[in-house]
Amino acid sequence: MDWGALGSETVELMRAYLKVDTTNPPGNETAGTRFLAQVLDGDGIASETAESAPERGNLVARLRGDGSLGGLVLHHHIDVVYADKRYWTVDPFGGLLRDGFVYGRGALDMKSTGILQLVAMLAIKRAKIPLKRDLILLATADEEVGSRFGAQWVATERRQWLAGAEYALSELGVIVAEGGRRRPFGTIVISEKTGLSLRLTARSEPGHGSMPWPDTAPHRLIRALTRLLEAERPPRVLPEIQEFFARMASVLPAGQGEGFDRLERSLGDPGFRARFLANRHHAALVRTTFAVNMLKGSEKRNVIPPEATADIDCRMLAGDDPDEIVSWVRGVVADPNVEVNVTSPPKAPNLSPPDTELYKALSEALGRRAPGVIVAPEIMVGFTDNWIFRGMGLHGYGFGPFVLDEGEWRRIHGNDERISVENLTAGVRCYTELLLQMAAA
Ligand SMILES: [Zn+2]
Repeated sequence: MDWGALGSETVELMRAYLKVDTTNPPGNETAGTRFLAQVLDGDGIASETAESAPERGNLVARLRGDGSLGGLVLHHHIDVVYADKRYWTVDPFGGLLRDGFVYGRGALDMKSTGILQLVAMLAIKRAKIPLKRDLILLATADEEVGSRFGAQWVATERRQWLAGAEYALSELGVIVAEGGRRRPFGTIVISEKTGLSLRLTARSEPGHGSMPWPDTAPHRLIRALTRLLEAERPPRVLPEIQEFFARMASVLPAGQGEGFDRLERSLGDPGFRARFLANRHHAALVRTTFAVNMLKGSEKRNVIPPEATADIDCRMLAGDDPDEIVSWVRGVVADPNVEVNVTSPPKAPNLSPPDTELYKALSEALGRRAPGVIVAPEIMVGFTDNWIFRGMGLHGYGFGPFVLDEGEWRRIHGNDERISVENLTAGVRCYTELLLQMAAA
């Protein structure tokens, strides 16, 4: 492989892809599929595009193997979140290359991963390398608004696109290299927390605001919410979470990760527990969380309403049972006049084990990308399309051969999102070598 030439091609394709405005809403992902199809066509790779709605394109292309092993899906979402130009110093859709960085909305989330997958596929096709498994490039719409027109649509309407697949690779997972840390820390995403939409509805007789009493609907609701927020649902340390924190402890400056290697026991210590749970991210990794985000009572200040509601964003960890959570909430609320309901079908969390052939290959790839890296399995607290692929029976992982510090990472969904040329050129080599290791005959 001519890695230099492939690296330059990657940078140019990245710039071109960033110029395609796929802000969602409305998405306009078909413009993205046209771009991808044209590049694939240039190397004689046929692709198929299907729209889930006007201009909401999804695309698939397949390099065939001999079928002796299951296929590998290389997935990215075409859409990006909006960029407020007033806060950017460059055009978010200009594809600018400046001082070793390519700027644009989607530079990290996640057109860069899509371009690495695309170029790796082109390189393997050009080199005429025989494959043991199919490589399936999948580009989808609508991830940023819930995937209904993208991965979810593909899962129900174009299931054959993923026929014969065993694995899926999608977004996130990264190598974080920070000053003060002993080693770089790499993560491979194996699971996501998923949402359970809860609604509490308190009811009582209505009345005039001038003569309130303790049990009006809003008053009951407030007391019920207070009981819920004060109730401590016991932390639960999944084995994968234990591994994540034990590995993290080995890269943190001395002293900072104390107790992380035996988390369950450490959480029994009140001092440790308070410190650990004060970190929102850490707390969300060991607990089912409840965020009271929408409240509704009367339409008028002087009217005591017959009903008051609270909508709660509850997030579940792998192994959580929605029915058990609902009955736990009912028990804590402990008021027959406050109803607890689930307002949309729960998405049961799923998880891919960190011991498959692909996971091991990903871990080795991160080791080549950043020598000395400590790699850990990660559970995302947010949601990604990998949940859908796991639901289709694939092992789905989030993988990115990018070395970033926290400052770069924060540009995701933020201002002046960018990716370094080094991450693109070293990343495409890393991705191509990974695919060769997994799929070359
Ligand atoms: Zn994304």
